[in-house]
Amino acid sequence: MEKKLQELKTRLLEIDDLNKANAMLIWDQSTYMPEGGAQARGRHSATLARLAQEKFVDPAIGRLLDELQPYAESLPYDSDDASLIRVTRREYERATRIPPKFIGELYEHQAKAYQVWTEARPANDFSRIQPLLEKTLDYSRQMADYFPGYDHIIDPLIDFADYGMKASSISALFAELRRELMPLVQVITSQPPADDSCLRKHYPEAEQMAISKKIAAILGYDFKRGRLDLTHHPFEINFSVGDVRITTRVKENLLGECLYSVIHEAGHAMYEQGVDPKLEGTPMCGGTSAGVHESQSRLWENIVGRSLEFTEFFYPRLQKAFPSQLGDTPLETFYRAINKVERSLIRTDADEVTYNLHVMLRFEFEMALLEGQLSVRDLPEAWRERYRQDIGILPPDDKDGVLQDVHWYAGVIGGSFQGYTLGNILSALFYQAALRAHPEIPSEIRRGKFDKLHNWLIENIYRHGSKFTADELVQRVDGGKIRVGPYIQYLKTKYGQLYTL
Ligand code: ZN
Repeated sequence: MEKKLQELKTRLLEIDDLNKANAMLIWDQSTYMPEGGAQARGRHSATLARLAQEKFVDPAIGRLLDELQPYAESLPYDSDDASLIRVTRREYERATRIPPKFIGELYEHQAKAYQVWTEARPANDFSRIQPLLEKTLDYSRQMADYFPGYDHIIDPLIDFADYGMKASSISALFAELRRELMPLVQVITSQPPADDSCLRKHYPEAEQMAISKKIAAILGYDFKRGRLDLTHHPFEINFSVGDVRITTRVKENLLGECLYSVIHEAGHAMYEQGVDPKLEGTPMCGGTSAGVHESQSRLWENIVGRSLEFTEFFYPRLQKAFPSQLGDTPLETFYRAINKVERSLIRTDADEVTYNLHVMLRFEFEMALLEGQLSVRDLPEAWRERYRQDIGILPPDDKDGVLQDVHWYAGVIGGSFQGYTLGNILSALFYQAALRAHPEIPSEIRRGKFDKLHNWLIENIYRHGSKFTADELVQRVDGGKIRVGPYIQYLKTKYGQLYTL
């Protein structure tokens, strides 16, 4: 057994090396690579991805997993070895069900769709991408059908991002959340909007980067095992537990953009930096699902970063960094500005209260498209109508309507969006559990101390990597099931102090 386990680990490590080398190419492509490198870089990346995939679907891995199964069953469920075999088997079975020929075709199609989207969006021309999106829908259905026996056709696609969640369970959570959010948005937006002009002054890039970096370090992001660079679309990427990097972008006429996106990405990165180094080089080294990952970025960005306690600690420092811009702005004004609620068009710019409405309608469109209830041709009109109904704003064009997110144009339709809202729901649930263990956390945040919260997260969530599914993690941490109650309570308490509810 020992020998077989070692062989499995050796093979997985080699696959991980290929994947991480590819990650480095992707990081470089998104940060420092000169424009001229794009074409060859696409090829380099594709070759590494193919080699890693070929090594992973090798029948020898299937045999090793079969032979190790009795050993896994003799061990406690949460032991490292049993978990390694369980998690690897899950991924192996998923990877081997999809024929390599299909993957090759899909990748080629996705690259083309993405290319056309980059032109169609600025041109505000949905008809240019429509035939390709129709093909993406076909591919997405075909992909789901490699996993027969599902309750809803979207379920296998959800599994890729949020393993174990289903259309039925997510729809129930989302319906409850929507029922609570719609009147909340109504009540808040009928009141005078917050004045956020203090954020819309000139804030030089170098100073924004310096203070963002400082804040990320104070929160607990370890710069000895990471770094911060500039990019177009902020992201976090890990090469090992010892090297987890983040990126951001700066708008010199908008203060919040860089700062809160650094806190967001640092939240993702602290999760990856907190994984037990023993899991390095295995499929368990990394966050367990899109939802749990997003719960950590959102916990740090919103629940901590946009809280009154954190603002009380951090705002005087921010004023010192920007004396001419913020010197005369009271804390209360700044706090209201960073928590401004408004009906808006763009998901990624949306505030905490309206954000989930943007996500939920996308999730419902994915289901309707996959079911065949909605055609790609009718999608732009359906999009406008849903924005009018749910967000209370009519998109003036497709550019900032149905064409705004890259997900469907570079991936598949199904499973791409639910993780954002699951992340919000989970962020409050986990934070509530942390407060039960350490009620002093908010007063520590006010004093600029974050280690109690950070250590609780490492101990209960981060160190496990993807040993446990999201459901298992919630069960262990909270004793119950994923539910929206704590998140709704969080929003009502916070926004009840900012607005008259
Ligand atoms: Zn994120």
